[in-house]
Amino acid sequence: MTTSNCDPRPAPAGGDRVGLLNHGRDMVAIPGPSIIPERVLSAMHRPMPDIYSGDLVTVSDEIFERLPDVARTTVGRPFVVIANGHGAWQMAISNTLARGDKVLALESGSFAVIWGEMAALSGVKVEVLPGADDLPVDPDAVRERLADDPGHEIRAVLAVQTDTATSVRNDIAAIRSALDDTRHPALFMVDCIASLGCEPYEMDAWGVDVTVAGSQKGLMVPPGLSFVWAGPKAIAAHERSDIRVGYLDWSSRLDATAHYQLYSGTPPVPHLYGLQEALTMIAEEGLESRWERHRLLAEAVWAAIEAWSSEGGIGFNIADPAARSTAVTTILTGDIDAEEIRRLCAESAGLTLGLGIGDFAGRAFRIGHMGYLNPPMLLGTLATIEAALVAMRAPMGESGVAAAAASLGAHFG
Ligand SMILES: *Cc1c(COP(=O)(O)O)cnc(C)c1O
Repeated sequence: MTTSNCDPRPAPAGGDRVGLLNHGRDMVAIPGPSIIPERVLSAMHRPMPDIYSGDLVTVSDEIFERLPDVARTTVGRPFVVIANGHGAWQMAISNTLARGDKVLALESGSFAVIWGEMAALSGVKVEVLPGADDLPVDPDAVRERLADDPGHEIRAVLAVQTDTATSVRNDIAAIRSALDDTRHPALFMVDCIASLGCEPYEMDAWGVDVTVAGSQKGLMVPPGLSFVWAGPKAIAAHERSDIRVGYLDWSSRLDATAHYQLYSGTPPVPHLYGLQEALTMIAEEGLESRWERHRLLAEAVWAAIEAWSSEGGIGFNIADPAARSTAVTTILTGDIDAEEIRRLCAESAGLTLGLGIGDFAGRAFRIGHMGYLNPPMLLGTLATIEAALVAMRAPMGESGVAAAAASLGAHFG
């Protein structure tokens, strides 16, 4: 069992040269959990403190003070959920909706639909606005559907900023315009689990009522925490919500007099220290600089794909660069066996790539390029993929490594 990314591996058995080269620091390039900085890991590694007073309370206060900045809100109330992203999804639903309410889930890949399925289990009626696997949500289709709801039966619109299956990035501001143009009062809820801290996002300026995120993707903290930011309209909707889940309920958290009430009990101590350090690192870098770094790294990935691409071989899932995520890329592999690329990278080189999920199984792989990442980490990933393509004698246009290096090199200096 591997417990750290620098564990020694057994030498390859006689004649078995599969792992010959694979003795170094592993690279995990999946779209979450992403690589956790040493600073965050070190901050988490500590004995348990007094949870009623002292340093931990200061850390907790600082986290709640800083979280709104990451979502670009001054009016949104942050909530910390001791759960993965699914827990934040549930918190958003059970605090703002009532049984029998209808929500509209905007399909663009997998995740808005899965969020909707969770809402349905809570007694909410869910309508899916169908979308495609290789396109963003069409704001005109949203406008049309909302215009056809004069009685305002739809109580909430569920959207995903970046769909981690297809690597599409939806235009959240344009979807907001569809609600505004139709003067539709539905709550606008956005899943930024894969994108927060990576892609430009403006909760207040884009009129988002509920933002949801997780710790383990762009925010550089191990899985186990997630976040909800609730704007004034969402807090008001809480009054009429009747899907109450005690552990996730906002009422006691909004009225918290002791900081552990913000967590519905004992605080997740190591995660709070890790999150404090990650938020410090994000503030040091600057959110806008982070967005730009992610864009430049993504452009290097795209340059590599463009160069590799060939008839029947490697290609983009999202053709339009403006609709591509800058945090994750889904790469179609045509006639090339995507699972063999992943196997070679993992076993021969210690590189873990994301697998194609849902309809993409076996015909795509994914690169997570989110969070704590610099050019050598990314170029190493791309070069290792190219080595696997060479090993497979797979069709390849040109060197993606050269293209990625040229793309990044243009920004050195
Ligand atoms: C990862 C992800 C989720 C699910 O998050 P978990 O932490 O696995 O529960 C939901 N939505 C998006 C867009 C994601 O990328």
